[in-house]
Amino acid sequence: MLIPLIKGTKEIIIGYEESYLKCPSCEVDTLHEIHIISKYFHVYGIPFCPTGKEAHTVCNKCGLRRYNIPLEKNFFPNYDNLKSRYKHPWYTYAIMTFGILIILLPIYFEILRAPDK
Ligand SMILES: [Zn+2]
Repeated sequence: MLIPLIKGTKEIIIGYEESYLKCPSCEVDTLHEIHIISKYFHVYGIPFCPTGKEAHTVCNKCGLRRYNIPLEKNFFPNYDNLKSRYKHPWYTYAIMTFGILIILLPIYFEILRAPDK
């Protein structure tokens, strides 16, 4: 029996900010709602590892919505603040952490069991 591998990327909102950004529709700096998104790779719905951070923005003046904007310095004037404040949630590293533990724990216990010289 062959079980299909269900994998892909998912995203969750990890933060909310308001900041002045240049709106392509209004063509001036306006206040925008910024939703910070953590994207992660999953296998069978279980998070494997984060793949990046993006943002969805909404212009407060005209309502223009822009999705999946990469979190980059040239787009967000407060990029350093956003990057340091919003981290990927710990559980987005779930399978990767579990895999590393599976490899490292036997090595650790083997070192503990080794007789002293
Ligand atoms: Zn606008």
